[in-house]
Amino acid sequence: MPDLPGIAADSPLHRPLRDVPGIVAHVERQLGKEDIKTVADVLAHLPFRHEDRIRMEGQTFHASETPSCHRVIVMKTGVKFFGPRRGGNFEAVVQHTDANALGQQLTLRWWGMSFMSRVIAEGQELIIHGKIKDWKGRLSMDHPEYEILRGGDDDEAVTIHAGRITPIYRLGGALTQKAVRVAAWHALQVVPEHFIDDLLPQPKADGEFAGWNRSRAIREAHFPTSTESLDTARRYLALEEFYLYQLRVVHRRREVLASGGRSMTGDGSLVDAFIKGLPFALTDAQSRCVKEIKADMASKAPMNRLLHGDVGSGKTVVAFASMLTAVEAGAQAALMAPTQILAEQHARNARKWLEPLGLRVALLTGAKKEDGSGMELWTGDAKPHILIGTHALLHDDRLVHDLGLVVIDEQHKFGVAQRAKLIQQGTAPDVLVMTATPIPRTLTLTIYGDLDVSTIDQRPQTGTKITTAVRSKSKIEDAAKFLREQIEAGRQGYLVYPLIEESDKLDAGAAVKGHKEWGKLLKPHKVGLLHGRMDAEEKDDVMKPFREGDTHALVSTTVIEVGVDVPNATVMYIHDAGRFGLAQLHQLRGRIGRGAHSSYCVLFIDDKDEEAKEHLAIMEETSDGFRIAEEDLRRRGPGNVLGHAQSGQAPLRFAELLADTRLVRTARALAERTFEEDPQLSKPEHLALRPFAFEQREVAKEMMQ
Ligand code: ADP
Ligand code: MG
Repeated sequence: MPDLPGIAADSPLHRPLRDVPGIVAHVERQLGKEDIKTVADVLAHLPFRHEDRIRMEGQTFHASETPSCHRVIVMKTGVKFFGPRRGGNFEAVVQHTDANALGQQLTLRWWGMSFMSRVIAEGQELIIHGKIKDWKGRLSMDHPEYEILRGGDDDEAVTIHAGRITPIYRLGGALTQKAVRVAAWHALQVVPEHFIDDLLPQPKADGEFAGWNRSRAIREAHFPTSTESLDTARRYLALEEFYLYQLRVVHRRREVLASGGRSMTGDGSLVDAFIKGLPFALTDAQSRCVKEIKADMASKAPMNRLLHGDVGSGKTVVAFASMLTAVEAGAQAALMAPTQILAEQHARNARKWLEPLGLRVALLTGAKKEDGSGMELWTGDAKPHILIGTHALLHDDRLVHDLGLVVIDEQHKFGVAQRAKLIQQGTAPDVLVMTATPIPRTLTLTIYGDLDVSTIDQRPQTGTKITTAVRSKSKIEDAAKFLREQIEAGRQGYLVYPLIEESDKLDAGAAVKGHKEWGKLLKPHKVGLLHGRMDAEEKDDVMKPFREGDTHALVSTTVIEVGVDVPNATVMYIHDAGRFGLAQLHQLRGRIGRGAHSSYCVLFIDDKDEEAKEHLAIMEETSDGFRIAEEDLRRRGPGNVLGHAQSGQAPLRFAELLADTRLVRTARALAERTFEEDPQLSKPEHLALRPFAFEQREVAKEMMQ
């Protein structure tokens, strides 16, 4: 249950519901079971949508899939029994209030609820809301929402459930719409007009929120007085939510800037030699990013930058160039990868590209058996220039003497806390975070608001093409035949299986079974098996022959998702593809099409699974990660796309409005202004903001893990 942040201790909002006139005991009990006990609890429980029940239908009933709202009078009631053991159905025949005796009739039906005969009686006036059905010319409405108008014009009854824009709440347990609605209504009656302090700074008198405050927004979010005010209320509350989020982001950013960095500039000799030695020229986007990073490293403020580029856009080269800049400036540079496989891959590249420049490269991973070739170099005095490793890097300072730059690959596997920890170790090194998760531009500010962003928005023209197809899994024999042909032409392939469950035990299940099947299908070619339950050494024993072309196909779970680079692999079959998110499929597919040969990705789905087919269609259409991310955003909403990035913070209630960049920008600007005016948030009006901006406990918790 979400709370209303920032409620003063003496607020009337702490009043228990039992003290609120109009909320009867059984409603209070119902709410209590769902932990809604106070006025604040009810008001925090915002409706997730509204129905426009303002317009009462005139004098006629007609069948429609769209619910309608009517003011009626009860002509006749009765309980009907069908069969001896069934409960009775209650029926009430009604007419529009103003209709004459010959007016059109509608039958309201409550199945199995004969007790309704004690609630609804002839002569009552009701407001009803529901769908009208036509059964052989007889019009009926089943289980309508209703409100009894007691004598004369009961304005309040009309106001709560019908004749207005009516709130619809998410319900838990035994709660009913009516109970929550009545409770919210009466709760709002007992609080003063200004019942809660504003968290947002005073809105501008001429802006879209002129005249608005938090109390009004909450009021209008429950019981809007118009469609426009509902919209403004939701935007106000969304802005408030984003503001609180940005307070943390801005605070984090200010901390980094205050942590005192260093200016690093080199003479460019190493970077130039490195780039000249590459078998290809940098793309314009790569060159631009190298330049941006250089400029940032040269400035006195610590760098905290995101290198954002689709899979295969060539981030590694940019990272290496940045690291060389640090070395030119006399410092060490570290590259941290999320897995051992990736750390080793980076180390191989570093040895190939950097050792010829006279640099010492060390590989440091958590594995028990160190890759000896790396460590031997440090028996002497000379410390390595370049450190490459996994998390282990963070915990081992034997080789570190002057760390100027840390590059973190595939940031989504890294926590904020780890970054914080790095920064805490001695003088703050510059930090470059690389991610291959294409974040729609509309979301970058939200997710990476504390980072500057360099985007590689262009792929190297390698001339290879990936063809993607969605196929029913009954076509697997054909697919096997195709893969054999590719293998016989000297290529290799990946065969990916989804995790059945997040749990370790089941992790390998499908892949192990798939390994047997593909072993038979591809005989006599060699098929390897890779899954998350293997330890680093076992994984390496599988990866090595695959990398070297001795294993022809690799069955795996999603452990190959991130960063693996085997240019000779041209085929990828993804089983049960419907179970993957688009972003993940895109990441997986990025493992092929890395060499000179045309590549093929097939997404297998259940026969006739139309939903999966539609879901995956975009994958056939494009290999542009940003377009896929936008599509993902459109389908699943920002809340889901955000995923990990948001972990550690409460889920955003107004996540769907995140795609509204203007609102996010406003929130950001407000948060920055708040800190400029009051860096410690110590003014009385800012005290309530402190828990949002400062995350001591949060950080402490993450670091313990
Ligand atoms: P990612 O951005 O996914 O980490 P990598 O850095 O692994 O991509 O690069 C993908 C492949 O493209 C690598 O094999 C790399 O050597 C190659 N590559 C990088 N930059 C270029 C370029 N400018 N021209 C041609 N190939 C390049
Ligand atoms: Mg990479």
